[in-house]
Amino acid sequence: MPRSVPQLPAPVSEEWDWQLRARCRNMDTNLFFPRDDEGHGARARRERAAKAVCARCPVLQTCRLHALRAREHFGVWGGTTEGDRNRIPIDAYGPCRSSVIPAARAANEQSG
Ligand code: SF4
Repeated sequence: MPRSVPQLPAPVSEEWDWQLRARCRNMDTNLFFPRDDEGHGARARRERAAKAVCARCPVLQTCRLHALRAREHFGVWGGTTEGDRNRIPIDAYGPCRSSVIPAARAANEQSG
């Protein structure tokens, strides 16, 4: 018996559309993700700069919710660092969902 329409997963494009409006789209992903050799001071400066980009992003809330639900372990998402996200209680944002790549990384991969 075929599955009914409501049982089918949402089209992938609907999961990704918010990234098309991301302010970090086409930006260098190094601003949002830590490097292995990054010192504490450099990391703090980079995270502040990334958060400043996020603060003016039209999809900040969607991005943050994605990062929380996908359990994104690294990087600045929706104006939060991994440390910020770890301090938010899990039951504040719902069940885990599959991960998608951040807008900046997606744009770089498309152009590269
Ligand atoms: S990381 Fe998220 S909130 Fe920050 S600029 Fe990119 S899409 Fe917007």
